[in-house]
Amino acid sequence: MPSHPSNSLLGLNLQELTDLALGSGQPAYRGQQLFDAVYRQRIDRLDQVSTLPLEYRARLVEEGWNVGLPKIARKFVSSDGTMRYLVELSDGETVETVWMPEGDGGEIGDGSEAGDELETVTHPERVVSWHRSTICVSSQVGCAVNCKFCFTALLGVKRNLEAGEIVGQIAAVLRDQGVDPPLQRVNIVFMGMGEPFLNYDNFMKSVRLLVEGVRIPESRMTVSTAGIVPRIRDFGQEAVRPKLAISLNASNDALRSEVMPLNRKWNLAELMNAAREFPLRTRERMTFEYVLIEGVNDAPEHAREVVELVRGMRTRINLIALNPGTELPYRTPEQERVLAFRQILVDAGILAFIRRPRGRDIFAACGQLKRTVEV
Ligand code: SAH
Repeated sequence: MPSHPSNSLLGLNLQELTDLALGSGQPAYRGQQLFDAVYRQRIDRLDQVSTLPLEYRARLVEEGWNVGLPKIARKFVSSDGTMRYLVELSDGETVETVWMPEGDGGEIGDGSEAGDELETVTHPERVVSWHRSTICVSSQVGCAVNCKFCFTALLGVKRNLEAGEIVGQIAAVLRDQGVDPPLQRVNIVFMGMGEPFLNYDNFMKSVRLLVEGVRIPESRMTVSTAGIVPRIRDFGQEAVRPKLAISLNASNDALRSEVMPLNRKWNLAELMNAAREFPLRTRERMTFEYVLIEGVNDAPEHAREVVELVRGMRTRINLIALNPGTELPYRTPEQERVLAFRQILVDAGILAFIRRPRGRDIFAACGQLKRTVEV
């Protein structure tokens, strides 16, 4: 899967920026200056790098370099405060990025808590005293995985995003919101359009740039995968990595293959083996997401099968009532059914939560990202 070739500084790490400077006969410390300008200051034009001599700025432009900050083409605001950004890349392609702000009680259930062993999550109704926001980023233009309940799947996959295009979504949104980590707390969830583990190297490079450059700690990031088993194993070996969430979404192979055809390639036994062998850090949990679809995977017997699947694991399960849309034949279960499903898990001693939908009214919620421009 190709990604778009680029001459943007966003996406280059400190070493690459240093090599770039050295290649133009500049001292090595210019690399650090570029790195700070791009990731900390989050400039959008090269002439804004005030630490660089004018002629070096001009030379970079002559050589065809640009910052590569993506443009915000459209912005939609939900009644719950969520904002959905349509972000335009240098080749004109668009992806979506979602901003889920603090302070409205939405802290619990935006996905960023995946993997945590936080006490606060056991009291979803409690008003939390700390402030944070979560950005949900896309990793590909469209998606190739073809989950039957997800609207992004309808787009197919166009291309992978470059590391700089993943970081660029975050830089653009932070600029627009006037938010500056690490002083202001920001969580990142790699749960937007695309399958991050099918764009593994660019995804991992973006993680390192976010940690080193934007200064968002890895502990505030969560990546969700549909279940690309070999990459789950690779991911466990990474020195610096976000928390992991796995989209389970069904309790047996027949059902999972029906709603997630990728299960025919890596079935539940293989997936759960990889999950069980995943090297969790102290206090970390393996998160599973389970989208509840009316009459498909939301029966008590399915909940009991889930209990068996995760038996003995240090896990948390995030239940997501299907976010609806018109093009798909699936419906959202009644609240009682969702509560009953959760209760079976809780009674079996499993930490399980119902994720609050964010931004459904502007098509910003899980599975709804399909570049809707009319709301
Ligand atoms: N490709 C990755 C990340 C993007 S999807 C993955 O599959 O995990 C993020 C989450 O949204 C996944 O858990 C997915 O199962 C869920 N999701 C997809 N479509 C949905 C829908 N219509 N309603 C609710 N959740 C959905």
